[in-house]
Amino acid sequence: MKKILSRNEIKKEFKWNIEDLFESDELWQRTYDSTEASFGELEKYAGSLDIKGLYSCLKLRDSISLNVEQLYVYANLRANENSANTLYQELSGKADRLLTLYSKAVAFIEPAILAMDKQELISAMDKELKEYRHYIEDILRSSEHILSADKEEILAQVYEIAQGPSNIFYMLNNADIKFKNAVDSKGEEHTLTHGTYSSCLESKDRELRRSAFNNVYDSYYAQKNTLAAIYSASVKKDVFNANIRNYSSALEAMLFSGNIPTEVYHSLIETVNRHLPLMHRYIRLRKKILGIGDMDMYDIYTPLVDNFDTRKTYEEAKSTVLEALKPLGEKYCNLLEKALNTEGWVDIYENKGKRSGAYSWGAYGCHPFVSLNYDDTVNSMFTLAHEMGHAMHSHYTWDNQPVVYGDYTIFVAEVASTVNEALLMRHLLNTVTDTNEKKYLLNYFMEQFRGTLFRQTMFAEFELETHTMAERGETLTFENMCRLYSELNAKYYGKDINNNEKISWEWARIPHFYTAFYVYQYATGYSAAITLSEKILNENGAEKYIDFLKSGSSKYSIDLLKDAGVDMTKSEPVERAMKVFEGLLDDMEKLTV
Ligand SMILES: [Zn+2]
Repeated sequence: MKKILSRNEIKKEFKWNIEDLFESDELWQRTYDSTEASFGELEKYAGSLDIKGLYSCLKLRDSISLNVEQLYVYANLRANENSANTLYQELSGKADRLLTLYSKAVAFIEPAILAMDKQELISAMDKELKEYRHYIEDILRSSEHILSADKEEILAQVYEIAQGPSNIFYMLNNADIKFKNAVDSKGEEHTLTHGTYSSCLESKDRELRRSAFNNVYDSYYAQKNTLAAIYSASVKKDVFNANIRNYSSALEAMLFSGNIPTEVYHSLIETVNRHLPLMHRYIRLRKKILGIGDMDMYDIYTPLVDNFDTRKTYEEAKSTVLEALKPLGEKYCNLLEKALNTEGWVDIYENKGKRSGAYSWGAYGCHPFVSLNYDDTVNSMFTLAHEMGHAMHSHYTWDNQPVVYGDYTIFVAEVASTVNEALLMRHLLNTVTDTNEKKYLLNYFMEQFRGTLFRQTMFAEFELETHTMAERGETLTFENMCRLYSELNAKYYGKDINNNEKISWEWARIPHFYTAFYVYQYATGYSAAITLSEKILNENGAEKYIDFLKSGSSKYSIDLLKDAGVDMTKSEPVERAMKVFEGLLDDMEKLTV
């Protein structure tokens, strides 16, 4: 086994330049003290904020929030470098405290805006408040769903109780539920946890896959009535919320915060449904390649291509990614090259105590930071492309937007990362010569489509149906939810796979269902990104796309994507993504006959 180095054994050129954020811990502490003291300046506006004072109040808030964010990010990035370093755990605890104080200090602003004279406010939005127009419009939009002060007071108190279902599920799923060990074809036992379950399902050993699948689902089945009661309570909470706040449905209520029209949701489901024969074709192909006559639900995750082992050093990965992203234009690539080679955005290798996985993060006013645990696999090359997509999105946004629009919403969050992955994939598919490598890449890409576009839409459909049932006053029982899930599963995967009875219990183990109407964004974001990458490659779409990266949250997500060339209220982006999937299927079929 390879030896893991301690952080100070790693060469400086492989680590990020965190000093670009704060030169020293002393400077961090001084900034911390002055930022905390500046909260007092904000308090002067509380209780007397009017339209005249609004601009200077918001400016002050933004400059304070910039400091709070930088302090918070620095402490946490430092803590992530090495969890054994207690100094930075202490700093991140302090940063948490500052963030809480900040949220309290600014809490008066939105209610004050809602209480202002609407006509005067609207006319000021054309003049001195121009910079904040979209921000204020978004606040005003919520006014018809805000209740009288005494009702809001009660709802605020009910909030914690309303978290009940999700908290109970969390405890059951993470603390109490236990799985029997899985047993492989040689009779060896494997410990089953949420973490090891997916690697068991990816195993080449079919007996191990079957055993893991059976043992996990049997544990959930043993709690079936409890699980149905918790999920049913969660759905009722969503319906209650929608009713009391004057929304026409739970779906409308949940999509309201991002101003996403409900037709985006319906159109996704409708379009994916029309293309389900492609999913069925994929399952048939899988069955053929794996050579399994009676394919079952536990045969879906195992890779189609084995013995593929191409090592990619970090240097090779970097130049491949840079080459693949050329369609985004010279400016993008020059910036990216600097970020990778001279500006110290990336922390490349694993060290003792470093946070696992990969992420991109940062704060307005500095460059983004990317943490990897690069391990020379093709997978980690894709991760590099993915995280640099996020980082470049932040960089362009921070360079072009004021603080108030310096972030981006969940709806578009995975677009830039997926576009980069798709461009890298296209580049590799066009250049690799080895058949096995090509099959490996096609499998990798098709699995993304299955997991992100098809599976998340199936989840979305389940959520819509359960909420609609509750809205009609029907009771959600274990039996009727399993019936629904089983029908969906059969519809999505087709006749060439056994619709195992246990899979109808799957809804009972999905944590995301406790944040209703959330997962559809994975499917819409993925479709938007695939369509954008096609437009970049074939229709000179790069310029509009770069404008999208520059725009942060300065408009609603749907409008930002429309400007970039994808209209998510129409079926076209999902249809185009499906065309890409069909092309991959064609290629894979050709390589397997
Ligand atoms: Zn991501």
